[in-house]
Amino acid sequence: FQSKLPKTGTNIFSVMSALAQQADAINLSQGFPDFECSPELVSLVNQAMQQGHNQYAPMTGLLSLREAIAAKTQELYGASYHPDNEITVTAGGTQAIFTAICATIHPNDEVIIFEPAYDCYAPAIQLMGGVVKRMELEPPDYRINWTMVRRLISSHTKMVILNSPHNPTATVLQEEDIRELISLTHKTDILILSDEVYEHIIFDGQPHRSMARYPELAERSLIVASFGKLFHITGWKVGYCMAPAWLMNEFRKIHQFNVFSVNTPMQYALADFLQVKEAYLGLADFYQQKRDYFRSGLESSRFELLPCAGAYFQSVKFNHISEDNDLLFAKTLIDRVGVAAVPNSAFYSKKTDFGILRFCFAKKQETLTKAVEQLLKV
Ligand code: GLN
Repeated sequence: FQSKLPKTGTNIFSVMSALAQQADAINLSQGFPDFECSPELVSLVNQAMQQGHNQYAPMTGLLSLREAIAAKTQELYGASYHPDNEITVTAGGTQAIFTAICATIHPNDEVIIFEPAYDCYAPAIQLMGGVVKRMELEPPDYRINWTMVRRLISSHTKMVILNSPHNPTATVLQEEDIRELISLTHKTDILILSDEVYEHIIFDGQPHRSMARYPELAERSLIVASFGKLFHITGWKVGYCMAPAWLMNEFRKIHQFNVFSVNTPMQYALADFLQVKEAYLGLADFYQQKRDYFRSGLESSRFELLPCAGAYFQSVKFNHISEDNDLLFAKTLIDRVGVAAVPNSAFYSKKTDFGILRFCFAKKQETLTKAVEQLLKV
């Protein structure tokens, strides 16, 4: 038997969460909130089920939800995406990313990704016979060197994958990056896959530079978003993709044979809940408080804190504390102080190890307090 992904093991989030569970450790590894979503959202699902919305949703997503997404995108980014042919509801961000890659990448097409990168990009590209062109970014600021990116471009370059706010580094794209991206892709057929699942978790008053804001980029972009991050419901697995009609048409050809459609009652609930703007506009402040608490708690620890401009991850450097590789150090941390983190080498194909761990701070106060207390013992 020939494996389709011979070098791929179980993803790091499942591995670290399982270790945390076995050891009864505080789980700051896998990124998910340990607090409840809004009870209103739960009763809206209940209501939808009671009202009999229990059969297939339309393949492309519930129209009222696509309309609500279009209205939000218009209001926030001044961009119009038509609910009929430019927005599709997906079973979470990961499915949207996989479908986007499946719909666009042919054998030998080259795709540029920036590492550390979220773990689902490269395998999807490889499965399509595409070639992953990696550029490694370095701590502490992980800035993209656009001159180097230009050197990676060839006549086979089909796509660039971006992720802002970024998992795991918590960096966000700056205006200069956008200018470079526009000039890089201008008059080319290069597509952009923009993973924007943390769009509302961005700190210190910075704007989210969605591809949707820039017509030159939007016309070649597939934008991926996630309700899991937006409303603390990662287990619902609902997200969406937005793209110009010609690209969305291709996306839907795959989507219909992959998941066909996404769970119906959840879509009813989300369509209603999306009308309450405060529910997502307050998200940045909500998480900024958690970031600030976690950072100030660790200030007197032995860890060195890296910057955190967005998403819900705080990276720390530990290589002045231990010479262990980051995976080993993460495992030892579970055993010694009962706190689980993700080793950042997991986000590099070559397992590049800068001695950095990623902690998720999307946790209730009680969890963060206990975690800080334990981490101060290192
Ligand atoms: N996005 C989450 C993280 O980065 C995990 C998602 C998953 O477990 N697949 O931790």
